[in-house]
Amino acid sequence: MESEESSSTVEGARHPRLVVLAGPTAVGKGTVAAYVREHHPEVWLSVSATTRKARPGERDGVHYLFVSDEEFEQMRHEGNLLEWAVVHGRAKYGTPRGPVQNTLDAGRPALLEIDLQGARQVRQAMPEALFVFLAPPTWDELVQRLVGRGTESEAERHDRLESAKVELAAASEFDVTIVNDDVARAAQDLVSLLVEPPVSRKGLKP
Ligand code: 5GP
Repeated sequence: MESEESSSTVEGARHPRLVVLAGPTAVGKGTVAAYVREHHPEVWLSVSATTRKARPGERDGVHYLFVSDEEFEQMRHEGNLLEWAVVHGRAKYGTPRGPVQNTLDAGRPALLEIDLQGARQVRQAMPEALFVFLAPPTWDELVQRLVGRGTESEAERHDRLESAKVELAAASEFDVTIVNDDVARAAQDLVSLLVEPPVSRKGLKP
């Protein structure tokens, strides 16, 4: 076990790296990911499949692959999803496996922005990945962001706050925590991890 983890730390400097970004609802994972997409073309960002409807401004194939439930189930049954989850009890989201593998095979760093359930599945499938938790500066700030977004109904906000409480408690499962008090800085910290792995990972400290 330890030697596997050690080798992922050492080899991370030479091999393309997979970084999984997760964190509570409305912490700004999407905003940080969008910043990386815009400013760091060297980083490949996975495009998730989802059964939810597109929001205004979202483009199919760029922000998500918007698919029907039948299409999603077909991807799942054919083993084409690296992970998948029902998020907030409403829609299915999943990471297409092929593009991630192709990107890593081509020597490019890859970033997944997914929920906690998905991150846990990726940890099972690819324990060599680096797991990054995006945290809000404070709980009040998180609530503010959730209410301020205004794209969800009251019932959805309630569900998301409940999920966020559970998700915040999961920070200790992650290798690294980045506080999202400034999007540009948080994105820069994330990109540094993609190209330059930390010296030690959780569990390897003396
Ligand atoms: P939204 O609908 O607001 O874009 O995203 C809702 C949640 O779904 C976010 O927490 C986001 O991280 C998560 N999510 C997006 N894509 C995936 C995915 O491929 N897999 C999983 N498990 N979660 C995802």
